Amino acid sequence: MTNPYWSPALARLEPYVPGEQPKSTDRLIKLNTNESPYPPSPRAQAVLQEGDLGDKLRLYPDPESSELRAVIADQFALAPEQVFVGNGSDEVLAHAFYSFFQRPEPLLFPDITYSFYPVYCQLYGIEFQCPPLRDDFSIGVDDYAVAGAGGVILPNPNAPTGRYLPLAEIEKLLKLHPQRVVVIDEAYIDFGGESASKLIADYPNLLVIHTLSKSHALAGLRLGYALGQAHLIEGLNRTKNSFNSYPIDGIAQRVAAAAIADRGWLADNCGKVIATRERCCAALSALGFDIVPSTANFIFARPPVESAESLYQALRQRNILVRYFNKPRISDYLRISIGTDEEMDILIGACKEILSH
Ligand SMILES: *Cc1c(COP(=O)(O)O)cnc(C)c1O
Repeated sequence: MTNPYWSPALARLEPYVPGEQPKSTDRLIKLNTNESPYPPSPRAQAVLQEGDLGDKLRLYPDPESSELRAVIADQFALAPEQVFVGNGSDEVLAHAFYSFFQRPEPLLFPDITYSFYPVYCQLYGIEFQCPPLRDDFSIGVDDYAVAGAGGVILPNPNAPTGRYLPLAEIEKLLKLHPQRVVVIDEAYIDFGGESASKLIADYPNLLVIHTLSKSHALAGLRLGYALGQAHLIEGLNRTKNSFNSYPIDGIAQRVAAAAIADRGWLADNCGKVIATRERCCAALSALGFDIVPSTANFIFARPPVESAESLYQALRQRNILVRYFNKPRISDYLRISIGTDEEMDILIGACKEILSH
């Protein structure tokens, strides 16, 4: 059983398992990993048509991603020293855990949340404590008034519930732990929430993390970033430069900069997804689903009659892929990413048919 070549630390790891990425997506309606149903900004796509891309790859990319960071800083009225970029926000998160949470005290995050957090804790030997979500899946900030915590991390909106925590509540959290870093993982913030990035000037302990994988339709590019006061960004750079000096390839730097600068496209894309989400929530409610209020590009829904697992299987047989989590408290729910209107109509039709049997 035990592999003699594996270190004990390696043998103990329990890696994160991402949602299924089928090899062929022909005829498959893919609503399981919260990707955008629409292609990215034409300005981002135009960068890929530029003729000199091949020669650009001959040299190492800018290790600081300076131009990209300047574009990001501009969007949030921050300085480039307040921006860190990484190879997907998962890499940014990994560096944040290493940089700020390796302490004797436990890190706090909700019992139901992004399941990569406990994996990073295990990788870096970080103790953690999980205040349970309230019965309606909301986060009760008072539950985070734990003396001697090593830090706090939560997604806002939360995953996989889609519930949003207003900024006033985030501020309370920041005030509870002024000596520790509070990371707000805003992977889904563009779908109706208000970013905590505007609090950065007032809170030296706030780190906000974004990704281009969801709202910018660039999951395949692998680009995420962190926003915070310069001393936190310097911390992330120390970790990054002890790990990989060139995490962002030269093409990704340019595509990401073009995508982020195209604010009009972002607003349009998110507007379409939000409109489809609201329509889909109404249709599924009418079928008897219990729907958690969502501010994300997915909905978390409990089917009537049928168990979530059997509905997941029945949808799969009809080539519709959604996400089912066989975990305490949420095993009655399905997480359904918002696709195109056409895809959601097929999903709703299939649910209607399956539930009527
Ligand atoms: C999707 C997601 C991420 C990861 O995004 P990448 O940039 O693709 O690595 C991080 N946090 C949450 C909460 C997510 O849902």
